[in-house]
Amino acid sequence: MPLPLIKEQPLGPLPGTGQVKHLVAIAAGKGGVGKSTVTVNIALALKEKGLKVGILDADLYGPSLRRMLPEDRLPAQAGKNLVPALCAGISMISMGFFRRQDEAAAVRAPIANGVISQFLNQVDWGPLDYLLIDFPPGTGDVQLTLAQQARLSGAVMVTTPQEVALMDVRKAIHLFHQVKVPVIGIIENMSYFLEPRTGEKLYLFGRQGGERLAAENGVPLLGQIPVDPALSRSGDQGISLFSEQSGAQPETLQTFRNAAEQVGEEIKRIAQQQGMLSKFYQKNPRTLTIEWLDGQETEFRLSDLQKHCPCAACVDEMTGKPLLDPHSVREDVGASQIIPIGRYAMRIRYTSGCSHGIYTYDMLYQLRDKR
Ligand code: ADP
Repeated sequence: MPLPLIKEQPLGPLPGTGQVKHLVAIAAGKGGVGKSTVTVNIALALKEKGLKVGILDADLYGPSLRRMLPEDRLPAQAGKNLVPALCAGISMISMGFFRRQDEAAAVRAPIANGVISQFLNQVDWGPLDYLLIDFPPGTGDVQLTLAQQARLSGAVMVTTPQEVALMDVRKAIHLFHQVKVPVIGIIENMSYFLEPRTGEKLYLFGRQGGERLAAENGVPLLGQIPVDPALSRSGDQGISLFSEQSGAQPETLQTFRNAAEQVGEEIKRIAQQQGMLSKFYQKNPRTLTIEWLDGQETEFRLSDLQKHCPCAACVDEMTGKPLLDPHSVREDVGASQIIPIGRYAMRIRYTSGCSHGIYTYDMLYQLRDKR
């Protein structure tokens, strides 16, 4: 392992992520869905907006970011810390800098955890608006430790539209829920191919997977990225997609710009929601009482909440219109379980009827005002 393992506390200004405003995980259930491609291009889109951005490539087993975004300056050792590389104006640390590209990465989990911990805590990240963390694919020990260690504002989930990719990303979402990291939204990659002559959208890998996943989890679909040969070409050649030579379709660039914009907005919204709710409990089995941070208290009838169930079976994903007949809801319905999801929502499992609804604090707050 060429990366030195440092045990003593370094002297001088503290390295690490203390001056980073937002750490954001970019994660997927499985490899090959375009997670690194999304990380690089969201970073470039944020940079284009004038923000200071870094990327921590935590994908130790397949670090591809160095190839996608070659460095203008290599990382350097400064005393006991590392100064990140600079790639097209983006600060970057990747295992790709510390071993040969053709060398297989056989790294056991405890070592991987140690390396990632160094990447977080012993790199002089300096003041950044965003540090994007390209998560390793999967839901093992390394991912769990990283999700717990990094002071994450949230996680962006990347998927392709097929059911098999959705299954894996659901597991990854569960992991973030377990450690109370809010999911910022879903990016669906390889959503369609824009036929250049006719402008027709061809849905090569099925439709609406990302929309369904977003609705299931009560989070926004941040973007649907087309299959664009310029994306793989620019990645392979190490050219920024946002440069003129990349030949990217304007639609692809705009999708990344919009997604980057929305990530910022959602983080703000989540931060507000996290401060909304003080606690919740049941005064009786048919109601749910919420104490808000503004000191107010609301006692909701569970039957009223069930009538507003936001899950995909109860609300039409396309039109947003309710599918659930309110008369079908039993007035005496109770809850078999109420589970907090991150610091921004709760899932209510009713004693009869639907059990999938995720109620964001924002939504509950609006329902309180409607009463
Ligand atoms: P992951 O990080 O999930 O393993 P990568 O970002 O490395 O996936 O992408 C895998 C391959 O697919 C790369 O060669 C990349 O250039 C290509 N790719 C990803 N997204 C797209 C897209 N929307 N259009 C064309 N090629 C893509």
